[in-house]
Amino acid sequence: MTDDRRAACIIGWPAGHSRSPLIHNYWIAQHKLNAEYRREAVPPEQFADFIASLRARGYAGANVTVPHKEAALALSAPDERAAAVGAANTLWFEGERLRSTNTDVEGFLENLDASAPGWDRGLQSAVVLGAGGAARAVVFALLQRQVERIYVVNRTRARAETLRQRFGAPVLPAGWDELPGLLAEAGLLVNATSLGMVGQAELNIDLRGPATLVVADLVYVPLATGLLTAARQRGLRTADGLGMLLHQAVRGFELWFGLRPQVTAELRQLLEADLAKA
Ligand code: NAP
Repeated sequence: MTDDRRAACIIGWPAGHSRSPLIHNYWIAQHKLNAEYRREAVPPEQFADFIASLRARGYAGANVTVPHKEAALALSAPDERAAAVGAANTLWFEGERLRSTNTDVEGFLENLDASAPGWDRGLQSAVVLGAGGAARAVVFALLQRQVERIYVVNRTRARAETLRQRFGAPVLPAGWDELPGLLAEAGLLVNATSLGMVGQAELNIDLRGPATLVVADLVYVPLATGLLTAARQRGLRTADGLGMLLHQAVRGFELWFGLRPQVTAELRQLLEADLAKA
């Protein structure tokens, strides 16, 4: 490895399922960079030591995935997004300081902007299913677009209440039984639960209602979830989880390697082919 070769990695436990190496190594090859993006499987008890030695290991930064996102936040200097969401998924060095951000926020917004242009124009009411880490990023993103009412529907109601405490009055915890009424007036429905994912229960929601509803699913295995398929059958506009995954990767690459890559149709096809094997 020459001195000017740069490296970044995805740190997870396990790390084998991550599609981030496919994305970043595609961009590295496309731009002919002297760089490499690797997988690092790090158990929770070794995470703090690994982070402390990140630079000594030759890394300009890293992505962080399950179960390390909260620990990454605590071990770094977070930006406003990571602090607000309470989880970090991207680390980089600013001088000697290890900084962190949460790129799920912009990944979610930019994917919606690309997939359903104008989705937030006059949007007053959105329904978010789930109250975990991904839902926190989605709620923060919707607040940035000034959505007035964000209904959070979660199996464990107390977690939805916690989101209201974190983000304030626009967040309105609600029950599954209220969904039909909420969807009748909502402009956006977001699945930020793991329902609909391979190996998980299906998400069955009655999407009858205004044809202006936009449906976003964060799940990307399978690519066409039951929710997205039902929405498309009704002629609703949709945004899928793969688009969010691709868009959230852009900022990390820019921070580590110094240029802003594009989410191209060719890159998406590469990922689709990989997901088809899953
Ligand atoms: P998490 O923190 O573990 O939260 C999981 C959420 O799913 C919780 O709200 C949980 O409800 C709910 N849930 C799980 N099983 C359920 C069930 N059987 N019935 C009802 N609700 C159930 O996970 P996360 O990090 O937020 O991730 C959520 C999903 O988003 C995952 O599928 C993940 O892959 C996806 N994601 C995608 C992207 C992307 O770029 N596309 C980025 C981040 C996350 P309780 O609170 O009641 O347990």
